[in-house]
Amino acid sequence: MALIVQKYGGSSVGDIEKIEFVAQKVIDTKRKGNKVVVVVSAMGKTTDNLIALAKQIMPNPPEKELDLLLSTGEIVSVALLCMAIEKYGEQAEGFPGYFAGIKTDAFHTKAKIQKIEPTKILNEIKKNKIVVIAGFQGISSEDSITTLGRGGSDLTAIALAGAINADICEIYTDVEGVFTSDPNRVKNAKLISVISYDELLEMASSGAKVMQSRAVEFAKKYKIPFVVKSTFKETGGTMVKELEVREGAVVSSVTINENQAKISIFKVPDRPGIAGKIFSAIGEAGINVNMIVQNVGRDNFADVSFTVDINELEKAKKIVENLKDEIGAEKILCDTDICEVSIIGIGMINHPGVAGRMFNCLAKNGINIEMISTSEIRISCVIRKKDGQKALEELHKEFIE
Ligand code: ADP
Ligand code: ASP
Ligand code: MG
Repeated sequence: MALIVQKYGGSSVGDIEKIEFVAQKVIDTKRKGNKVVVVVSAMGKTTDNLIALAKQIMPNPPEKELDLLLSTGEIVSVALLCMAIEKYGEQAEGFPGYFAGIKTDAFHTKAKIQKIEPTKILNEIKKNKIVVIAGFQGISSEDSITTLGRGGSDLTAIALAGAINADICEIYTDVEGVFTSDPNRVKNAKLISVISYDELLEMASSGAKVMQSRAVEFAKKYKIPFVVKSTFKETGGTMVKELEVREGAVVSSVTINENQAKISIFKVPDRPGIAGKIFSAIGEAGINVNMIVQNVGRDNFADVSFTVDINELEKAKKIVENLKDEIGAEKILCDTDICEVSIIGIGMINHPGVAGRMFNCLAKNGINIEMISTSEIRISCVIRKKDGQKALEELHKEFIE
């Protein structure tokens, strides 16, 4: 007998037929002698639709109310899945995040989980029930409903698995696991059977939306192994765990992130303290900066460019515009026509020359590189958005096929 956490993403609960399928799958798991806790996402595109509704009222809706609105999506799935489970003869108990003891900070729309008090969940499991929990949400110490960032049901599942000391956490989705590139965009992408937390973390934070990056970060920190697999096809999926460096391929995956925007600040005085001022202000607003490039100063001036998530562009732009006169910059330009392609692999640590091969591959295809950033196991290039798909396919051919 095992204690299993299963998470079903939005596409797996997209309509009633799928919800009934999931109910039977969950029941199957229980009838094999396991205890099951299920985490569900909102049905299909519900979250996008709710955001669009709010934006009809105002372009930047207040985040506390937005969270209240978005949390309803997952609650609908919980209620329907519980009904379906009961229809097929098992008892279910459904919880929104706040009843499930998921306590967060008050950073609305991207709250962090502070602790989970699982007593209620464990009590219901003891009663032989299947517990169904709304993903993506929690409650702050001020008793307001929070959400955990897009894709946050992954985080709910991983954190819960940690809190109840589950034997395994299974992330069910619409593809068979983690692939060497998005299987919906690269036809020769291959399923990866085992991957390290570090590689998946780099993948997730550079555009592979198969797992939320914060969820992978959490799993790595608390050493929670998990598996990503298909809801609808019976295959082994991808096991995610700590791996030795020597076990990894040189390049194990290629990703694209089309949700980035670039802000350039021209003719900034080239003196100590300016960059600190800009990026402290951006950081204090809770905006994540991805890449930063400063051009070599000429005549004591420099140009600074950086990339942010496209959803945070307006917020970041406002901050920089407010600082423009104080820092003595000449002008500020925003560019949403960019994307970022990355190659990732734990084996890069021991293999020099990978960067050159990547840049040559892009050059050979007439693709200009505008910004570069690297980590120990990732190299990313910002290029024009129109070149993104080609770059993704060519890099996959160069390093993986
Ligand atoms: P869910 O609704 O189950 O949370 P998501 O849509 O968030 O599912 O994530 C699954 C999607 O991630 C896939 O349909 C696929 O298009 C995309 N994806 C991007 N990169 C990868 C990758 N390297 N491996 C697998 N899927 C990927
Ligand atoms: N429904 C939320 C989203 O679309 C959370 C999730 O699906 O994980 O981002
Ligand atoms: Mg997801």
